[in-house]
Amino acid sequence: MDIEEFRKAGYQAIDRICDYYASLQNRPVVSQVQPGYLVDALPASPPEQAEDFDTIADDFQKLIIPACSLEGILGDLYSSSVSNPGFNWLSSPACTELEQVVMDWCAKLIGLGDHFLNRNGIGGGVIQEQTTASEACIVVCVAARARYVRENPDAKLEDLVIYTTTQTHSLGVKAGLVLGLEVRALPVKPEYEYGLRGDALRQALKEDHARGKRPFVFIGTVGTTSSGAVDNLEEIGQVLKEHPCIWLHVDSAWAGVAMACPEYREYGKLDAINKYAESYGTNFHKWGLVNFDASMLWVKSRRNLTDALDVTPEFLRTKQHDAGLVVDYRNWHLGLGRRFRSLKVWFVLRRYGVEGFRKHIREGVALNEHFASLVRASPDFELVTTPSLALSVFRLKLPSGVVLKEQETTLSALNDLNRAFHTRISAESDKIFLTQTMLNNTFCMRFAVGAQRTKREHVDQAWQLIQASARTAREDWLA
Ligand code: PLP
Repeated sequence: MDIEEFRKAGYQAIDRICDYYASLQNRPVVSQVQPGYLVDALPASPPEQAEDFDTIADDFQKLIIPACSLEGILGDLYSSSVSNPGFNWLSSPACTELEQVVMDWCAKLIGLGDHFLNRNGIGGGVIQEQTTASEACIVVCVAARARYVRENPDAKLEDLVIYTTTQTHSLGVKAGLVLGLEVRALPVKPEYEYGLRGDALRQALKEDHARGKRPFVFIGTVGTTSSGAVDNLEEIGQVLKEHPCIWLHVDSAWAGVAMACPEYREYGKLDAINKYAESYGTNFHKWGLVNFDASMLWVKSRRNLTDALDVTPEFLRTKQHDAGLVVDYRNWHLGLGRRFRSLKVWFVLRRYGVEGFRKHIREGVALNEHFASLVRASPDFELVTTPSLALSVFRLKLPSGVVLKEQETTLSALNDLNRAFHTRISAESDKIFLTQTMLNNTFCMRFAVGAQRTKREHVDQAWQLIQASARTAREDWLA
């Protein structure tokens, strides 16, 4: 492709992306394809001859079609235009330094303390090359394990335990699988909205220490996936103060960006995070206006990452690194090479400004509050937990006067009814996608707001669809 062909194809790509965004309103919210559709549509081997670019672009239009945010797309486009292996400062100084700056911007935006800033030279932030909160958690566990073993040379690897709660995202179990470590999920109670209290942690530590186990990291959550639960990080931090070898990581993959608004910082336990957390992670690609992927991790001490992950063969040595003049992010995560992801974040933050970013978050919370008020006012539905920021968890109630079948309990009947409703709404409408979850054996639905273009009318339409499906699901269930 020469430069003129690139110019033409580039304009065409932007036109097509614009058309795609303009058409989003009329597209199904979930892909309607069947498994294998693409495997069957594509040849099993690469083409022998070069193909015309228009054909490839048409196939993309027809077969792939992605979804992301406009400013971020442009950032990604620019990022693809620079040759940038990213594996150390020398090979990619702009990529490294923009990331240092942008990570500090993001930290300040969400209120993280100065000790998490790159510019303090001790802590710092990195966009994980492995691109997800799950992989950030593995990196954290590797660093926490290395620190623990350094400080407790008698510890045996088989005794180490990763602590999570029953509400932690699958990332806790995944980290255990990858690292070959035991994971203990601590129980949480509905009375505390499924967040962990300090006493449950203290009790677990007592039990595990008595059986010779060595918990070395606790993965707390602000905004669990299922219900937006928030662990009581103040109490947890107080308990962990008595066990300074245990690393506190806070996963706030979707909710973290809400801390951009001062009014949500108390809810998000920001003070406790700043006081006690060794590391903190959030995904700007979830609710933070940045297109996938931008999974961010901050640590209080970058040494903990580099002590665990710095492997420097001769060919990777540079005089700038040896002199301690630069950050080489390769030692802050698993991969070596890295994409220029900070560009898209930079584009988004500059284009929105702190004010615009906060407005976006506040709109998401307000829309969810609107949804929650519709549920509260309905005789047919109920909220299962208190709405959390932009997430509501709800379910259908049993019709009044319903007689339970033999062996049926109220809970099993409710679960059957709600499963029937969920199956129906998933099959009936291509305009709404509700994910389901289980909370203490209760089957419920999650309503989450977060997209930049979601407006009140969309929430109202969603509510209409929910009510219509609920009517038919109930009739069928009663029949
Ligand atoms: N943690 C929480 C609280 C989440 O909600 C999610 C995703 O939904 C994750 C972790 C996993 O994120 P990732 O896909 O970046 O691994």
